[in-house]
Amino acid sequence: MDVDLLVIGWGKAGKTLAGLAAAQGQSVALVERSPKMYGGTCINIGCVPTKDLVVSAERRRPDEDPAEAFRAAVVERDELIGKLNAANHAMLERPEVTLVDGTARFVGPRTVAVETTEGEQRITGATVVIGTEGRVPWWPADKTTVTLAQVMSHVALDEARHAGHADILCEQIDGQVGLRGPGNNLPGWDAGRWEEYVQRIERIAAGRHGAE
Ligand SMILES: Cc1cc2nc3c(=O)[nH]c(=O)nc-3n(C[C@H](O)[C@H](O)[C@H](O)COP(=O)(O)OP(=O)(O)OC[C@H]3O[C@@H](n4cnc5c(N)ncnc54)[C@H](O)[C@@H]3O)c2cc1C
Repeated sequence: MDVDLLVIGWGKAGKTLAGLAAAQGQSVALVERSPKMYGGTCINIGCVPTKDLVVSAERRRPDEDPAEAFRAAVVERDELIGKLNAANHAMLERPEVTLVDGTARFVGPRTVAVETTEGEQRITGATVVIGTEGRVPWWPADKTTVTLAQVMSHVALDEARHAGHADILCEQIDGQVGLRGPGNNLPGWDAGRWEEYVQRIERIAAGRHGAE
C-alpha cells in the first residue's frame, strides 16, 4: 500500500497528525501494535488513568471500605479507558485513513512491514512519522526503551560536556575565558599565584585518576 502519510503509533502525536492530514484529503495509514493502545499511552495507561484513580481516592468517604473503594475505582477507571479508547478509534474511522493493527518494522527507508492477522502487509509513505518510543539497544536492559525527551536531554548534556572541553582548550590557546568583552575575564593574579593554582588543579585531576 502506498500512502501520502504513514504514521507508526496511535499516541497523542500520531493521531493528531493522522487526523490533520486526513482532513486535508491526504491518504493516511496508521499502524498501532495493540488494540489496547488506540489513543496511545496518555489515555490508556498514562495521564488519564492515573489522575482518575487519584480523583477516586480523594472522593472516598471515611466510612467506605478501602479495599472495596479501590476495586470500584479500578472498575470506573477501566470503563473510562474503554470509552476513550473507542472514541479515539471512532475519530479516525474515515475514508482517508487505513487503520492497521500490528507492529511496524522498517524494511526500507520509507517502507514498513506489519504482521497482521491476514499476513504481512507492506506500507510505503511519501512521509513517514515515527510516533513511538525509541530503543538504544546497547544501553542497560532497564534503560533500553527511551522517549525523545530522554534522548534530547542526553544529547544536550553530552554536547555541553564536549563544548566545555573545547572551551578549556580554546582558553589555553587564546589566554581568555568566558564571553568576550572588555578585558580577558581573568583575575589579575601574578605568575606565582597562577603556578600555585595550576598545580592545585593538576593535583586534583591526578588524584581523581588514582595517580597519587
Ligand atoms: C504513568 C504516566 C503518567 C503520565 N501523565 C502525564 C500527564 O499527566 N500529563 C502529560 O502531559 N503527560 C503525561 N504522561 C506522558 C504522556 O503519556 C506521553 O508524553 C504521551 O503519551 C506521548 O505521546 P506519543 O504520541 O509520543 O506516544 P504514545 O502515546 O506512547 O504512543 C506511542 C504508540 O506507539 C505504539 N507503538 C510502539 N511501537 C510500535 C510499532 N513498532 N508499531 C506500531 N505501534 C507501535 C504504542 O503501542 C503506543 O500506542 C504520562 C505518562 C505515563 C507513563
